Amino acid sequence: MPAAPLLAILLSAAAVTPSEAPAPPAAALQAAWSPARVSPSSGSYAPAALVADLERLIVRSGGHVRIEQKGVSAEGRPIFLLAAGSGPEKVLLWSQMHGDEPTATCALVDLLSHLVATRTEPATRQLLSRLTVLAIPMLNPDGASRNDRRNAQGIDINRDALRLQTPEGRFLRDVRERHRPVAGFNLHNQSALVSAGRNGLQTALAVLAVSSSEDEADGPQLARKKGLAAHMARVATTFAPGRVARYDTDYTERAFGDSMSRWGTPTVLLETGGWFGPGEEERLVRLNFVVLLSALHALARGEDADGAPAYEAIPRNVRGAFVDLLLRGASVHGGRGLPPFTADLAFVRSGSIAGGGVRLRSTALADVGDLAHLRGFEEVDAARLVAAPAPAEGASGWAKVLTGLVARGLARDGLLLLDDLALAREAAEWAAGRAIVPRTEVDLVLFRRTEKGLALDGFVRDGVRTQ
Ligand SMILES: [Zn+2]
Repeated sequence: MPAAPLLAILLSAAAVTPSEAPAPPAAALQAAWSPARVSPSSGSYAPAALVADLERLIVRSGGHVRIEQKGVSAEGRPIFLLAAGSGPEKVLLWSQMHGDEPTATCALVDLLSHLVATRTEPATRQLLSRLTVLAIPMLNPDGASRNDRRNAQGIDINRDALRLQTPEGRFLRDVRERHRPVAGFNLHNQSALVSAGRNGLQTALAVLAVSSSEDEADGPQLARKKGLAAHMARVATTFAPGRVARYDTDYTERAFGDSMSRWGTPTVLLETGGWFGPGEEERLVRLNFVVLLSALHALARGEDADGAPAYEAIPRNVRGAFVDLLLRGASVHGGRGLPPFTADLAFVRSGSIAGGGVRLRSTALADVGDLAHLRGFEEVDAARLVAAPAPAEGASGWAKVLTGLVARGLARDGLLLLDDLALAREAAEWAAGRAIVPRTEVDLVLFRRTEKGLALDGFVRDGVRTQ
């Protein structure tokens, strides 16, 4: 063939094949969150507020985000399957099948908002031409309305994939059968008291390539899951170094992620943990936004496969490493009249799941003793402190106790003039049955030893130290 027609063919081929838009770098995805963000700063949606924001977004999108399918919860609340893009490959993301796990719902709304706002930019245009993004933000609105893991029937939807007794589970299964997505993202919150590797930092995000069987063989499905999970972990690490882990769980036939994978949609589980400090919820929403958006770009560009070695190298998600507050080496008067002893005291607060979800109904004194293996998000060197159960009614209760001690000559100028024996006796008296023992809700009164006596240092109330 002469050179000129060959060149013409090559040129025409180039003209019909759109050039590859460069992959947006992680920093650009991170910067994209603020302008796109519509979710509340609490990191948690009430069901009605979510519906209102989604309806506004749909209108604003001018048809680019649409309701693909509508479900109804057990108590009649709407569940939306939203779609963006027109690509041949369908990708399904669902959040908050556990009603008290809100972070990814916010990220999904912000993600859809971003796709709308940037739809004419090359990278987003390419994504939406290659993928159809299907999103179910908040599969369990009934649970969300009462901050409960389960649905209104009291069933854990994530254990209903076989029996399908929940309308929410049936909806998810129906969406999967209708659309047969090539990838699934199962979005959850885990406890915030986890670390990325033993002795690592607090896990902000854990990923898992969800098994499709007890002993899944290598193949394209597993490669896709591990590749996506590794990709997301890599991107998350640029934003949250040392805070990304590999989730660990056994294959569970009745669970949805496992079943999705078994039914033919390779699924990645994302478990948002915690990222202690002010603005935690927003940091976690942004982290979810970045990794999910990045995963979609990777899928659109076919860059998701073959991440097995990188996946295996992600540090393990370790439970039981952290508590909220740790007092180290306090001198403890436990409230039962026993002689004082040296112990560490660990508190776990009721809201120890980020984003307003409540995993524990009440704050608990988690443990007493040598707790060198634990780390606290807040730690107090309590070597010079004496801890006793607080009297009822906290500070005002203490004022009454102090008045009584002064009247009996056992306190003066705000100082307690008590030796260990007397303090043990008095503390048992004002504790009135409360004791510093694990798995109780006990509050503490703390004293500082001074040369003239014991000075009030403050209180630990609902797991929070006040001075
Ligand atoms: Zn969950």
